[in-house]
Amino acid sequence: MIKYEDLLKVNEPFTQELGNAFNDVIASGWYIMGKQLELFEQNFAAWNNAAYCTGVANGLDALTLALKVFDLEAGSEVIVPSNTYIATILAIMNNGLVPVLVEPDINTYNIDPVRVEQAITPKTKALMIVHLYGKCCDMDALMPIKTKYNLLLIEDCAQAHGASLKGKMAGTYGEFGAFSFYPTKNLGALGDAGALLTNDEQLNSSIRRVRNYGSDTKYYNDVVGVNSRLDEMQAAFLNIKLKHLHSINAKKAELAALYHQYLKDDFIKPLATAQNEVHVYHIYNIRHPKREALKAYLLKHEIGTEIHYPVPPHQQKALADLFTGQQYPIAEEIHATTLSLPCSYAHTKDEVMRVIEVMNRF
Ligand SMILES: *Cc1c(COP(=O)(O)O)cnc(C)c1O
Repeated sequence: MIKYEDLLKVNEPFTQELGNAFNDVIASGWYIMGKQLELFEQNFAAWNNAAYCTGVANGLDALTLALKVFDLEAGSEVIVPSNTYIATILAIMNNGLVPVLVEPDINTYNIDPVRVEQAITPKTKALMIVHLYGKCCDMDALMPIKTKYNLLLIEDCAQAHGASLKGKMAGTYGEFGAFSFYPTKNLGALGDAGALLTNDEQLNSSIRRVRNYGSDTKYYNDVVGVNSRLDEMQAAFLNIKLKHLHSINAKKAELAALYHQYLKDDFIKPLATAQNEVHVYHIYNIRHPKREALKAYLLKHEIGTEIHYPVPPHQQKALADLFTGQQYPIAEEIHATTLSLPCSYAHTKDEVMRVIEVMNRF
């Protein structure tokens, strides 16, 4: 069986190093807000050419807190892609703000800048974009819109660790880049973790305060905060995994290139990566009108796949009240036809060639 993803196999090459880190943290006698977190924050900021990094408990908190520090007026609108994972939308709702869904470009899966501009109203205060599947959004088109309308920009980078455009890293374009280190992400912890990048010292201080009960000095609380800390154990694991992130991303890109080259054109493949672009292939997806039959056929041939995602946000039960009657045909088309293929750090080229060979007989 070629599984879609096997996290044990992904982490196996690092077992020794992770074990050592585990022992070091136990022996330190210090488990929250300590040296490992400080080190990870420095390392991750440097790795991304960002001035500051603050660790938080998970990706949803990173997104939620990024908006929270601006204290926007209730009812303000935040533009977000209609085909994102629900977390991006929940982060907006958690702050009493209104998510305004904007359709993606079906060729890139990322938010369509032309439609972004059409959706702006006097109430629009922020853009919350998502570098989906590991490909950067069209920043050359989005940055002028941010400037023209004086909007905040928060980048959901949960799938884009190491993605870049013209050498500029995802997560360094806006006020904040929000990351998740959920175990399946390109940079995955062994539990929950997240972080925010920013180049603004003031904003970074605000995030550091709010993630720790609104406190800069123990037992003195200046603002209403939350408990969203990245613990020492996960920070220690992340320090190890970060050292290998370049090779993890390179392996995924190598496998993606095989799909790109050898899969027959019946499958709608992602666009070829441009020369000035780094795509980190968190997910390698294709689209096909007979997606369900294809998925079943692959499973019969012992090949596991996933669907990212089966139900678009506006059709989720939890969000039904918010989007009743609204239609997002591009998101619906993607959700009905997309299929994610095995493309993890642990997969071999032979396995991917086997997937291609089986798919090309479909
Ligand atoms: C994984 C993910 C998140 C949420 O991250 P968690 O750490 O699970 O909270 C947010 N946005 C996107 C696009 C994701 O893929």
